[in-house]
Amino acid sequence: MVKFLDLHKQYLTIKDEIDQAIADVIKSSAFIGGKYVQIFEDEFAEYVGVDNCIGCGNGTDALEIALESLALPVGSEVLVPANTFIATSEAVTRAGHKVVFVDCKEDDYTIDLADAAKKITKKTKVIIPVHLYGHPADMNTVLDLAKEYNLKVIEDCAQAHGAEYYGKRVGSLGDIATFSFYPGKNLGAYGDAGAICIYDSRLAKRCRMIANHGRITKYDHEFEGRNSRLDGIQAAVLSVKLKYLNEWITKRRLVAKTYNKLLTRLPFITLPIEKNNVKHVYHLYVIRVKEREALVKHFLKNNIPLGMHYPISLPDLKAYSCLDDYNSFKKSRLLAGEVVSLPIGEHLREEDIEQVVKCLETF
Ligand SMILES: *Cc1c(COP(=O)(O)O)cnc(C)c1O
Repeated sequence: MVKFLDLHKQYLTIKDEIDQAIADVIKSSAFIGGKYVQIFEDEFAEYVGVDNCIGCGNGTDALEIALESLALPVGSEVLVPANTFIATSEAVTRAGHKVVFVDCKEDDYTIDLADAAKKITKKTKVIIPVHLYGHPADMNTVLDLAKEYNLKVIEDCAQAHGAEYYGKRVGSLGDIATFSFYPGKNLGAYGDAGAICIYDSRLAKRCRMIANHGRITKYDHEFEGRNSRLDGIQAAVLSVKLKYLNEWITKRRLVAKTYNKLLTRLPFITLPIEKNNVKHVYHLYVIRVKEREALVKHFLKNNIPLGMHYPISLPDLKAYSCLDDYNSFKKSRLLAGEVVSLPIGEHLREEDIEQVVKCLETF
């Protein structure tokens, strides 16, 4: 049977190392903070190509803490793509700022910077490009816009560990970057976990303090922070899995290449693209079809799992029913009605891919 994700199969390939890593943490009682967290933070900072990595509770907290560290004025506006997971916009509101949604592009589905430029006001302070599905946003244009309007850039890298833009890894391109290690992400923990990556040591220190009750050492709370820390067991698991990440990305890219080759002859499907000078890590392999409801039924009948990322554009969610501007998300809305995510991952066998392709051919 084809699976959308198979974390148990992945575990079996690294079982001895994972079991040992978890046993080591338990033996040393390094449950919160400590040696294993520090080791992973150092390894991940090096992997991404930044000076500082701060582990935290999850990817949503990472965004919230990153925003808080910037100490923006009251009433600040933050540009967020309409086509992403709700965590990106939720964090903005939670941090006390105003979400301003921006439409997406029709080719790689990341933030549309022409639309972003139109929505900039005097109050706009931050732009959050999301490297959606594993494809890097157009960071050169993001950085130009940020320079022109004096905006901070927070990269949401939750879906794009290891993705590259002109030879540099995502997470090293803006002012701050946030990662999620939710189990199903390309680098996933065995529970909730996240991280913030930053060059600037002053901001890094600020983030670390916010995530740990406003302190550095045990009793010196300089301000009220919160509790959002990476735990030792998750860090140890992530250290093991980080060693295999590039290999798993290579396999994902191979599956994507095979899908591309076999599906290109089906005219009713719009395939995902990979722009020049980027490396797409295919957290999701998202196709578009006009008759999505019928296709979903066809897959259900054939017992093949599918995803939709995302079936409702964020501005159309009930959570945002108080927004006043509904008119400018044409492409996000179009996309929401057509996207289908096919199974992808290093767990797929050749016959799994064949089955998925066959199911599309018989549609
Ligand atoms: C998963 C995800 C997050 C949130 O991460 P959690 O660890 O689940 O809190 C944020 N942004 C995007 C784009 C995501 O896909």
